[in-house]
Amino acid sequence: MTASVIDGKAFAAKVREKVAAHVAHLTAEHGITPGLAVVLVGEDPASQVYVRSKGKQTLEVGMESFEHRLAADTPEADLLALIDRLNVDPAVHGILVQLPLPDHMNADLVINAIDPAKDVDGFHISNVGLLGTGQKSMVPCTPLGSLMMLRDQLGDLSGLNAVVLGRSNIVGKPMAQLLLGDSCTVTIAHSRTRDLPGVVRAADIVVAAVGRPEMVPGDWIKPGATVIDVGINRLPPDEEGGKGRLVGDCHYASCAEVAGAITPVPGGVGPMTIACLLANTVTACCRAAGLAEPEGLTA
Ligand code: NDP
Repeated sequence: MTASVIDGKAFAAKVREKVAAHVAHLTAEHGITPGLAVVLVGEDPASQVYVRSKGKQTLEVGMESFEHRLAADTPEADLLALIDRLNVDPAVHGILVQLPLPDHMNADLVINAIDPAKDVDGFHISNVGLLGTGQKSMVPCTPLGSLMMLRDQLGDLSGLNAVVLGRSNIVGKPMAQLLLGDSCTVTIAHSRTRDLPGVVRAADIVVAAVGRPEMVPGDWIKPGATVIDVGINRLPPDEEGGKGRLVGDCHYASCAEVAGAITPVPGGVGPMTIACLLANTVTACCRAAGLAEPEGLTA
């Protein structure tokens, strides 16, 4: 079997189109323009790239983008004061504090200072609790994007065996909650799991989020299973000194021979993450204004 490739880039473009259409509607019919505030503390190079990309895509869908760049040695109290201001700013519907934060800051404290209704990353404990109890919440972007692709690929997920590799708060756990919400039989595997190959072989859906380059080989995959590879890992530079290749947590070539469908890396889950951030911002804006939410952009 050769898997069909789930094109995250094309899917993300469709999500952005839907977001842009809804933004245009909100602006024209209700005089509201959704706004996303992104806060970056310090000069982490990868974070700078993400923040630039988020700002650009926010403007492209017609939303307002507010960027706040703070020095790495900013006192935590100053960051909390900024969040307080953004929480009450009516032009701001979504707030994202780029992680990781410098060591002198308590990330949990900072994230939980964000108004849950504006927490477009879905990391606030209120949103975690709402998701866990099956209530309307803001859903973390990477798992949301993965779920959208799974639903598009498979339709009804009810009754399918799903294995999530990884139990982080930002990917593994919320992904498992979403799959449970869609009535999958869910197993969460992690570094202490016994017989990982056996666990994965039982799965109709495999979501890999371990951060280990090409860890999952094709012979762990049940024939016809759907594989969502969340991992983004850069291999060491090649002999010519070029940048190392980006690979996922799954060994793409061997998994693609067995799976029914698979996301590539790059071009799979990655592009969906920012698209879902924009989707969450428009959702947050609609909820704040008491207006109907766009269809197909939430869990
Ligand atoms: P974390 O490091 O927070 O979590 C990794 C998880 O994988 C842990 O639960 C860990 O288990 C588990 N794990 C590690 N090694 C093994 C192993 N050998 N066998 C089984 N389980 C293992 O990572 P994140 O969740 O933040 O990210 C995971 C990957 O997803 C990374 O490659 C990251 O770059 C990528 N990512 C991609 C995004 C995107 O937009 N596409 C967004 C976010 C992340 P334990 O808890 O027992 O230690």
